[in-house]
Amino acid sequence: MSINRREFLRLAGLSTLLGLGGKAAFELIAPGQLEAQSFAPEPNAWHAKRWAMVINMPKLDEKTAEKCIQACHLTHNVPDISHPAPGAALLPPEDQNRFRIKWIWKEDFHNAFPGDEHDNLQEKLHHMKFLVLCNHCDNPPCVRVCPTKATFRRPDGMVMMDMHRCIGCRYCMAACPFGARSFNWKNPRPYVNEVNQNYPTREIGVVEKCTFCDERVAKGQMPACVEASGGALAFGDLGDPKSKVKELLRANFSIRRKVHLGTLPQVYYIV
Ligand code: SF4
Ligand code: SF4
Repeated sequence: MSINRREFLRLAGLSTLLGLGGKAAFELIAPGQLEAQSFAPEPNAWHAKRWAMVINMPKLDEKTAEKCIQACHLTHNVPDISHPAPGAALLPPEDQNRFRIKWIWKEDFHNAFPGDEHDNLQEKLHHMKFLVLCNHCDNPPCVRVCPTKATFRRPDGMVMMDMHRCIGCRYCMAACPFGARSFNWKNPRPYVNEVNQNYPTREIGVVEKCTFCDERVAKGQMPACVEASGGALAFGDLGDPKSKVKELLRANFSIRRKVHLGTLPQVYYIV
């Protein structure tokens, strides 16, 4: 059985009143109602032992990176806070930054890979714009802290977000060391200029992030960013020795973000 967000918020309030906390509280008050959902697979859905993404930086120029961002954000109705739809309020620049929602975005090397810098770094790394997104970590701290299972890890490695179950506590945001999650401080709908009717919009008070395009993979399609990347991004099954991602990682030197933290990121960068 599933419960909606309103019911979730009611249960969250009740658990606080009773002095209970975490998943145990929900299981006590509403047993068996915590199974979070993702898109149901269609007959042509793709399956994997372990989904992963490889970003081939020598093939990724800034224009292509921009295309990937656009494709993702248009597909998923990600609000563009700096461009309100007609009739919606234009926010002051400082609020545009504060309320920005992002699933995939660009970072310089020193922001994407802090701690991996040194004085003798290859010159080209200083000029690259790295596409960053949720790393769909194998050991995701965001999942551990979520009291409602709104964020959860699927057996195939996708770290999911069920927006209906998010109570807006933002524990997951505090736990994610990659800044991969955004919080809707404002009603996002007036900032979605072109609504994709095939994907849900969100509401104020929920967290959102990249889900490796689970809704597309469930239909046998590549993630939107991969499709828009002209071959610079690859997505596939690390459990399959013949997959493109496995082949790329075997043949090239790759790095991952903040590996010293032990979250085991599954987005790899060929540099
Ligand atoms: S990148 Fe952040 S949000 Fe994504 S799985 Fe890892 S810890 Fe969670
Ligand atoms: S995998 Fe899908 S959701 Fe994630 S960044 Fe790429 S397009 Fe966006």
